[in-house]
Amino acid sequence: MNMSFFNFRFSSRSRTKKGELAAPPTTSLASFFSRTPLASPRPVSPTASSSKLLYLTPPFVGTSLVKGNFTPIVALPRFVDLDEWLASNIFDFFFYLNTFYGSLSDFCQPQTCPVLSADAGIEYHWVDSQKKSHRIPASQHIDLIMTFLEQTIYNESIFPTKDGNLKLQYHIYVNLGVPFPPDFKSVIQNMARQIFRVYAHLFHSHYHTILHLRSEGHFHSQFAHFTAFVRNFQLLGQKDLTPLAELIAEMESQGLY
Ligand SMILES: [Zn+2]
Repeated sequence: MNMSFFNFRFSSRSRTKKGELAAPPTTSLASFFSRTPLASPRPVSPTASSSKLLYLTPPFVGTSLVKGNFTPIVALPRFVDLDEWLASNIFDFFFYLNTFYGSLSDFCQPQTCPVLSADAGIEYHWVDSQKKSHRIPASQHIDLIMTFLEQTIYNESIFPTKDGNLKLQYHIYVNLGVPFPPDFKSVIQNMARQIFRVYAHLFHSHYHTILHLRSEGHFHSQFAHFTAFVRNFQLLGQKDLTPLAELIAEMESQGLY
């Protein structure tokens, strides 16, 4: 097991301002997304704008920034610990989404989005630490989700980054690091569920704005990468994926998984 992969990413992260993370030093899609400027806004026809499932209609349903199959990208590499891989990827997906949502947050207001809604008539309520459910505006809900994700990632007892025990393997000492908690996969599943809900809301309520910003290619590719990951490691169930099940099926038929 090689700890350097994960530690490299986490030791180099830094804050830029409240609620944002500096771009990880990687040539992954994260850095590509953050470097690619958004094109000038374009108009979207009134007919298209009134369609609820605009993202399922051509040509948008087939749009993509990255062509090809995401399954090999998300597969566990040889000699990499599973928990390390899950942690590293969920960090990237949080970063992608937090950055992308930053370009849309001005359009997600309590007046326009009184609740975190999604397709299939679904609305999500925030459940607090006392297990009490709250119907709150989407912007507030997403802020709580991003804060939860960030605080979880920065929690050393859940996402350890420190050096740990040394183990002799093949005549060299390998740093095994501090172990992840036993329930780590369930933590990752919960984080993936929260990330998915933000995607579901953006497709449902803000797709027109995404089109106006000409960023649908970025968005579809981000989502295809994320869903390839959750499918590969069975992090979410069919019930979780319901609001975007049609889009996921479309992406599968396009050979993205
Ligand atoms: Zn919204």
